[in-house]
Amino acid sequence: MIPKFPPISSSTSTDVLIVGGGITGITSAYLLAKEGKSVTLIDASHLVGGTSLHTTAKVTVQHGLCYDQLINNSDFNTAKTYLQVNQAAAKFIEGLVHTNAIECDYEKNKAVIFSTSGEYETKIEKEKQAYDHLNLKGTIETSIPYNLDIQNALQLPDQAQFNPTKYLSFLVQELIKMNVTIYENTKATAVKESEENVEVTCETGHSITANHVIISSHYPFYEGAKFLFARMYANKSYVIAFPAINSPDHGMYVSVDKPVRSIRQTTINGEDFILFGGESHKVGQGDDISKHYQALTRSAESVFGKVNVQYHWSAQDYVTEDQLPFIGPLHQDRPRTLVATGYRKWGMTNSTAAAMMLTDKILERPNTDLEIFKPTRFNLKASAKQIIRENVDVTKHFIKGKIDFPKNKIDQLQPDEATTFLKDGQRTGAYKDDEGQVHVVDTTCTHMGCEVNWNDAERTWDCPCHGSRFSYEGKVIEGPAQEALKKHDYTIKDVYSKE
Ligand SMILES: Cc1cc2nc3c(=O)[nH]c(=O)nc-3n(C[C@H](O)[C@H](O)[C@H](O)COP(=O)(O)OP(=O)(O)OC[C@H]3O[C@@H](n4cnc5c(N)ncnc54)[C@H](O)[C@@H]3O)c2cc1C
Repeated sequence: MIPKFPPISSSTSTDVLIVGGGITGITSAYLLAKEGKSVTLIDASHLVGGTSLHTTAKVTVQHGLCYDQLINNSDFNTAKTYLQVNQAAAKFIEGLVHTNAIECDYEKNKAVIFSTSGEYETKIEKEKQAYDHLNLKGTIETSIPYNLDIQNALQLPDQAQFNPTKYLSFLVQELIKMNVTIYENTKATAVKESEENVEVTCETGHSITANHVIISSHYPFYEGAKFLFARMYANKSYVIAFPAINSPDHGMYVSVDKPVRSIRQTTINGEDFILFGGESHKVGQGDDISKHYQALTRSAESVFGKVNVQYHWSAQDYVTEDQLPFIGPLHQDRPRTLVATGYRKWGMTNSTAAAMMLTDKILERPNTDLEIFKPTRFNLKASAKQIIRENVDVTKHFIKGKIDFPKNKIDQLQPDEATTFLKDGQRTGAYKDDEGQVHVVDTTCTHMGCEVNWNDAERTWDCPCHGSRFSYEGKVIEGPAQEALKKHDYTIKDVYSKE
């Protein structure tokens, strides 16, 4: 559905370079090209292959329990601005879909958050008070049309859901018409900003010179000593999809207490399906990953009766310390390098809002909304507790990894299984593929030296500290790490002989 594009083959220049072709990058490219800018969009892999492909795509301004929290941890104006930019983004998406008759299963419906415990019942009541202050027309409900024992629910009418791949496919066709240059399999590795321009170097050695660069690579591939990894964490969720039977309506439902459960309907190849999600945890800390799918299936069956799970996937998104995305220049004094990330699993409207605000920034149109999102902000009230909690967590996992002296035997490894073992005193990881080949890597994360853990559902090595993920061969998939895990070319015989 999304066309393929070649990799970069020579150094070039452009007005705006956009690094990362998910919903943030593609929407930014669309808006800037419409304003007459020459735009180049690059992606390390393929357009719409990252989190934007794995989302549940609720286009709503109901972002969990956020407004009460924003008013308390920041202030009323911050909450108001956050709401307004997301409302504008939702309206933009709706307008674009209708004006261009985009076939992307766009459907208006209600969004509902619900509680299943007394503690969260009170939180929902507080969120309703925040809605009232913000003039957001939500209603408290005492039941939802699912077999779930709830305390209360907060319903927001007139929200939407869509198929992001179909929507972005339309935008990509528009980019082609507007002569946007697109390169795939083109990974950006470095940024150098001067007074005159900004130069981005690609893994191939080619460089792209631009007046501005937008870093929309989900985790920013370059963070210019801003230590974003210490100010946001990667949170993973799981989704199962099964044919919709016994499904009462097309609303979008999310629980606010743990375990989080999200329910919405969609169409896959003309058939109605339920997307049932949840089981969130920090990347690398989910223990036996397959168990999360089993837990989701059990939970879905308690609501829908026997379900026939036909698809399942997981993905991660970044959560900042004060719950607000990072949007704007990475450095106060380097205005050409812009970033957009940290959407807290509410990236459909937040990414679109980011694209709209960054377009204003690049076109030098005044936009005071950017102030609350600037990556250089520090909100002591909202951030201090979170930063301390994060650092304690990172330290715990760092130490836990270092005192883990696994005594596993690699000779007992079955196909499609992984293990860790000690090799020359070093914690080492091995995965045996279906052909029997064993892939051995050093399990020390190349980012900050924590020890990675095996993710048995996606066959990756995931870092519990800052969320970097590596393939079983050690290649970087996502996260702050830039370098691959050290690969050992041991034959299985070598490993046995030195164990
Ligand atoms: C399970 C789940 C459910 C969600 N459900 C919802 C929902 O219902 N509603 C909602 O609003 N939000 C939801 N979200 C959040 C939303 O999906 C994300 O916030 C959003 O998709 C992020 O888009 P992005 O463009 O920033 O990143 P991505 O879509 O990940 O795009 C980043 C791109 O950058 C590329 N890239 C990375 N590094 C480089 C590099 N060095 N050089 C070049 N390219 C690079 C990648 O290949 C990728 O294509 C959900 C998230 C998850 C995980």
